[in-house]
Amino acid sequence: MRLEKERALQAIEEHKELLCAMSDAIWDHPETGFHEHFAADLFCRTLEEQGFRVERDLAGIATAFSGTYGQDGPVIAFLGEFDALPGLSQQAGCTEKQAMQEDGPGHGCGHNLLGVGSLAAAIGVKQYLQDNGLLGTVKFFGCPAEEGGSGKGFMARDGVFDGVDVAFSWHPDETNSVSTESTMANYQICYHFRGVSAHAAMSPELGRSALDALELMNVGIQFLREHVPPETRIHYAITDTGGKAPGVVQPYAEGLYLMRAPKLYQVKELYERVNKVAQGAAMMTGTTVEIEFIKACSNTVLNTTLLKVMQKNLEEIPSDFFDQQDMDLAARIVDSLEERGRYFEDLVQEIQDPEQRRTALTDCANPLHSVVLPMARERQGFVSSDVGDVSWNCPVAQISTTTMPAGTPMHSWQMVAVGKSAMAHKGMLYAAKVMAASAIDALEAPAIIEQAKKEFQERTGGRSYDPPIPVGIKPRII
Ligand SMILES: [Zn+2]
Ligand SMILES: [Zn+2]
Repeated sequence: MRLEKERALQAIEEHKELLCAMSDAIWDHPETGFHEHFAADLFCRTLEEQGFRVERDLAGIATAFSGTYGQDGPVIAFLGEFDALPGLSQQAGCTEKQAMQEDGPGHGCGHNLLGVGSLAAAIGVKQYLQDNGLLGTVKFFGCPAEEGGSGKGFMARDGVFDGVDVAFSWHPDETNSVSTESTMANYQICYHFRGVSAHAAMSPELGRSALDALELMNVGIQFLREHVPPETRIHYAITDTGGKAPGVVQPYAEGLYLMRAPKLYQVKELYERVNKVAQGAAMMTGTTVEIEFIKACSNTVLNTTLLKVMQKNLEEIPSDFFDQQDMDLAARIVDSLEERGRYFEDLVQEIQDPEQRRTALTDCANPLHSVVLPMARERQGFVSSDVGDVSWNCPVAQISTTTMPAGTPMHSWQMVAVGKSAMAHKGMLYAAKVMAASAIDALEAPAIIEQAKKEFQERTGGRSYDPPIPVGIKPRII
């Protein structure tokens, strides 16, 4: 590795204590989407202390911000998240389910690590630009409400990512690998039914039940599932049943729907069909329906050019840093799982090269996976991420690194429990170094950025970004 690059990665190592303390502090103050004021303040303060120019209130969101260092030259961005999940409060390091605060939020998706890891990468690249007196700009984007809020979707709609040449991100995980999985586009819509209340026994003929309408809407949706593209997903939650008294005809009921499909136009078509089902249910019951657009996100456009650069750095930077203590904690967490996930094993089965497959197989039984998996074939994933919206604005690539025990599901108390552990810190710093090294490669070889942009043009068919969130919709979470 060239000395200049090594020096940049060394800068991440030198800030280790600060970075781990920051991630732990965010873990200690879990905040759900659009409420991340503690985290946003901490990030902005740290960015300023580190010599970045801070801009707050991006897209009019109080917890969206950016930090910029350098000038002119290519603009390289790192995407950071920091929101927690409701109901996932858990004691750190505890290998059984034990909340810190009953029904409180917790970092079940490791976003305390995600945000700080991306900031660490920005600090590394800043060091590189500074040491070498180069033209180039590094930006850290503080992106709120990934979970259910599509913070980046609102930011992208309002042009926050304009001018970025390439962007990198990562996610805490159980593997070290580049992300070749494309995520689904989605729409989140709230259906509000309004009817007329009445005594359910004395004057039922005067009542019009909003709850009946919502139930009929759900029946319609169950039938619709047979006639939509197979990858389509339609999830729902009844967020208001209207009341708890069966003797009252419920005048109000509300359902929250989340629709997903591989491509944005497919979700749009699905949305129009779901709306018709809702309107039909309202007609059948003599109620009215109000359709409220909550949020949406685009599918991810992959970028093999950047993924290959990240793969090379994943392999070059040592990943064998877990010690016996990390393994012991991981083994106890694995023991607590009712069922261990087989994600890693499935990925290993797909490895074509026999030598690489043999190496990966030796890691299968370990409670923590430290091998770097070879780049997998592209596939359609079933989850969604608002990184998708950034990926329609500029070439984006992401990695996963091991921060949690093998087979641990995301959004579980087990994932929260290890969020402040040494294994999580090590995986976070490794991700930061891989991202910083990849950005430095791109800064040193302009051909990488040119090639990534050419691929971006090909994959998007030259179509410009069409924000899925309509103008006028304000960020909120139900
Ligand atoms: Zn999540
Ligand atoms: Zn996440």
